[in-house]
Amino acid sequence: MCFMKIKTFLCIFQSAVINSRIQSTNNRVKMKNLTTKRRILVKHLTFIFLAGLFVSVQAQDNHKFGIVLHGGAGTILKKYMTPEKEKAYHDKLHEALEKGYSILEKGGSSLDAVEAAINIMEDSPLFNAGKGAVFTANGINELDASIMDGKTLSAGAVARVSHIKNPISLARMVMEKSPHVLLVGDGAEQFAKEHGVKLIDSKYFFTKERWDALQKIKEKSKNEKKNKTGSIQKSFYSEPLDEMFGTVGVAALDKNGNLAAGTSTGGMTNKLYGRVGDSPIIGAGTYANNKTCAVSGTGWGEFFIRLNAAKDISDLMEYKGMSLKDAADEVIMKKLPALGGNGGVIAIDKDGNIAMPFNTEGMYRAYHLEGSEPVIKFYKE
Ligand code: ASP
Repeated sequence: MCFMKIKTFLCIFQSAVINSRIQSTNNRVKMKNLTTKRRILVKHLTFIFLAGLFVSVQAQDNHKFGIVLHGGAGTILKKYMTPEKEKAYHDKLHEALEKGYSILEKGGSSLDAVEAAINIMEDSPLFNAGKGAVFTANGINELDASIMDGKTLSAGAVARVSHIKNPISLARMVMEKSPHVLLVGDGAEQFAKEHGVKLIDSKYFFTKERWDALQKIKEKSKNEKKNKTGSIQKSFYSEPLDEMFGTVGVAALDKNGNLAAGTSTGGMTNKLYGRVGDSPIIGAGTYANNKTCAVSGTGWGEFFIRLNAAKDISDLMEYKGMSLKDAADEVIMKKLPALGGNGGVIAIDKDGNIAMPFNTEGMYRAYHLEGSEPVIKFYKE
């Protein structure tokens, strides 16, 4: 009995040992499996982490970027052009475009691209901005400009400045160094002085072409006054001439998905004392919002102000879900002429689509989008 018990005990012990060995072998296999599984899991997680890291690094860099600009809308017809004039406009637009594009390409901000491209056009007598500003009825130059950051909706503007070489840069200073959006006249120039901007002699803005244009328009409006009818806002310039426009504007989208727009102008030839156009009015001549688009306008400013044209394009996209092209066409090709105004806009949206509608004979315009060649155009297609 005792022997049986011992044998049974030994059997149980033996089977326990065997079991435990099997168990431990199983465990080892399990452990091994588990370790292999863990390793696979760790590998997967590492891959996912690295892929995520890569994607997030790429995300900062995968926005389509681009720049679009204008040098004014008006009676720009091939028959009025000489090959020399065509080349001069082409080269200057190209220089401004490529300056802005290279900033974006290097990862610079849309604000920097907008300001730098506008500075180039302001320094050229070809455009009604900076050096080439038109004359007021009193025979002086009063310049307006504005800039807007689509990321923060910050904006800066100056109006009626006569001693500032680059009004767009002063507009940016107002945005970045003052608690205000719009400074005008003497106050804007005092602000410039206090921030180290050199005031220049207003003779700098004299160009014979713009002076002659003022004389021509004064003569024309003298004759027209005799048979004036209809709305005073329409009849002041019964038919704005080519020489009256030429404002410059730029809209850009950078690699971080930030939009910006800016506009700079001498206003309209023969404008009355104290007249301020749409260019320094945020929402009228300039607007940028990362949710929608960046816009700069050129044309008969009073109508752009009354329509709140640039903001209207953004609103049509935001509230009606319209594409940039449809929204810009709605404002420039329908609402503007319906009111009796004329002009055009250049715009770029958050996805890098552009629009450049105008209802005049032509508009100096250009764009350069990532991965494509620069395009420069003057006339209707
Ligand atoms: N929009 C400008 C203004 O009315 C003129 C222009 O675009 O040329 O002041």
